[in-house]
Amino acid sequence: MALTLSCETSTKNNDTNATKKTSTDTIAKHKAPFGIVIHGGAGYIKKGNLSDSLEQAYHDKLQEAITTGNEILKNGGSAVEAVQRTINVMEDSPLFNSGKGAVLTNEELPELDASIMDGKSLNAGGVAGISTVKNPINLAYEVMENSDHVLLAREGAEAFAKTRNLEIVDPEYFITNKQLQNIQRIKRESKNKQATFYNSDINGTKFGTVGCVALDKNGNLAAGTSTGGMANKKWGRIGDSPIIGAGTYANNKTCAVSGTGWGEYYIRGVVAYDISALMEYKGLSLAEAVKKVIYEKQPDLGGNGGIIAIDHLGNIAMEFNTPGMFRASYLNDELTIKMYAKE
Ligand code: ASP
Repeated sequence: MALTLSCETSTKNNDTNATKKTSTDTIAKHKAPFGIVIHGGAGYIKKGNLSDSLEQAYHDKLQEAITTGNEILKNGGSAVEAVQRTINVMEDSPLFNSGKGAVLTNEELPELDASIMDGKSLNAGGVAGISTVKNPINLAYEVMENSDHVLLAREGAEAFAKTRNLEIVDPEYFITNKQLQNIQRIKRESKNKQATFYNSDINGTKFGTVGCVALDKNGNLAAGTSTGGMANKKWGRIGDSPIIGAGTYANNKTCAVSGTGWGEYYIRGVVAYDISALMEYKGLSLAEAVKKVIYEKQPDLGGNGGIIAIDHLGNIAMEFNTPGMFRASYLNDELTIKMYAKE
């Protein structure tokens, strides 16, 4: 049986933007032979903001996604494959801010970012600002496996996609009515500033970047993240999600991490790598490293959000300093699905 520690604590910090509530979903001192954790975004996700039917829809899609990856791992598949296929399920769902249903730019267009990293080889791939590849994480995988590069952007990335036999779609494929209404409301109400998590004008908005981390039966770790970025972004803005070390990182020696939150602060805090480095150089446990970064370093910098992580022993963490984060874990046949801080 997995030991599940779930509690809420209060942190004291001087950042008026950050919520004082924190949530801890950590499984520690447990050696799982394989495991998988996902997030569907952090942000202003509060009980009462979602209708029962929408809450159920999120629950079902999180379950479908994580079960896809868990089956791959159970059958001896690699962590990289589990991460990619799990993220595909969420990219194809209009519920999340990735693939179909992603948030839109100030020009009311999709610009998608994604990255993936293999903890065994430390190979990695990322793509930024793309709008014609149906599953951005698949293009990130191709960059990792079949190019000499780590990060490709915009038209160049899309030209590379055409050489890799990936499914190509019109940008309209990604645009949903919900996100069109969302961007038009944000532009009206925020007077054209980039949307931020704690902008009171956009309270109630959910930031549904998706991510997945996995440990396979061979002891290999992988991490991946896929997003539409921040709503109302301009000028080719790129967030943390395609940046290795910021939104995504995996290293068999330490852990695999995927983040979701206010990307500028994740880049400046080098969040995913920082968690790994605290483990590698300071000998911190996964739980200690994650808490230090999410509840101390990020709020001190001014950023908000959360992360999911798994280490080489099968310990996991799902931590966030926002009111909620869509999240799920599958460890030793035990499935956990949560959304809010207090559950
Ligand atoms: N981190 C993403 C970005 O800043 C947004 C998110 O996590 O929803 O692009």
